[in-house]
Amino acid sequence: MLTTVVGSYPALTQEPSSLNDKISAFMGSYDPYQSALELAVQDQVKAGVDLISDGQVRGDMLEIFARSIPGMVVEDRTPKILGKIRPTTHPIGASDLMLAMKTAQKISPDFKNRQQLLSGNKFNEKFKGIKGIVTGPTTLVLSSRIEGFYKKDKKEKAIIDLAEALKKEVGYLKDAGASVIQIDEPFLSTGMADMATAKKAVGIIAKDLDVPLSMHVCGDVADVLGDLLKFEVDIVDCEFAGIPANLDALKKQNLENKKIGLGCIDTKTERVEETEEVLNLIKMGIEIVGEDNMILDPDCGMRKLSRDAAFSKLKKMKEAVKWLS
Ligand SMILES: [Zn+2]
Repeated sequence: MLTTVVGSYPALTQEPSSLNDKISAFMGSYDPYQSALELAVQDQVKAGVDLISDGQVRGDMLEIFARSIPGMVVEDRTPKILGKIRPTTHPIGASDLMLAMKTAQKISPDFKNRQQLLSGNKFNEKFKGIKGIVTGPTTLVLSSRIEGFYKKDKKEKAIIDLAEALKKEVGYLKDAGASVIQIDEPFLSTGMADMATAKKAVGIIAKDLDVPLSMHVCGDVADVLGDLLKFEVDIVDCEFAGIPANLDALKKQNLENKKIGLGCIDTKTERVEETEEVLNLIKMGIEIVGEDNMILDPDCGMRKLSRDAAFSKLKKMKEAVKWLS
């Protein structure tokens, strides 16, 4: 069974230590996040994760996009919408994705760009690749303060414009080698989002996309899972370790034509699970959705965990998969 991550990893930036780095720092071109990205990728590959991310080490899921998309800014760490949202003229995450792939390939040459995740209706068990991640248009707009152009009580227009902008970024990520695109939409479980607009926005990104599309929604999805499964995505990814009620909700759904990303590691605690715990949860998932329809990952991003806990948890997930076979 394939494993992945939701995306973020502890960002351990480093001061320049080598002479080369010190010279770069003096010239103003030292990138403190490069080593954090490399560590995040190395840990994922060493833990045995099949579909890796670049670790999203450069900032939280909102600011990474809000500071680059025309019409948006970040002020006092708050994303704001000041004008009409337009597509970027340059990629946001493509160079990190390429660096992540290069880092992975140094450890395992099995990692390749644009790998086929699904063969027919099944996951390709030999898959080793990378995903491109964008924060969902609904989540990004609902987390931003609207100070211009869009009426505050009419957020739909901003969400649709943002979907168009993110579609362009998705194209860049795909060209950079992403085998899968993931949209992070945690706001869809909060009850604050308009589902019809959210679905339309994801549909804009999905249109003509020729790699599998996954949508990550953390939180309690019991009331919205039926709606989420109607979105134009191949994989719906939710947290099942930290929120057992989500598993009951899953039992009641029609899962035809959808794959499930089964969050099987609790990312809200540093405690590393016992292998049996993870294995039991995976077995319950298999009973509901079937082995061929599942990919495993931690519940959510691991940004807030210590590196030790994050790495141990990824290894634990892989160990549970080994016990399974
Ligand atoms: Zn999440």
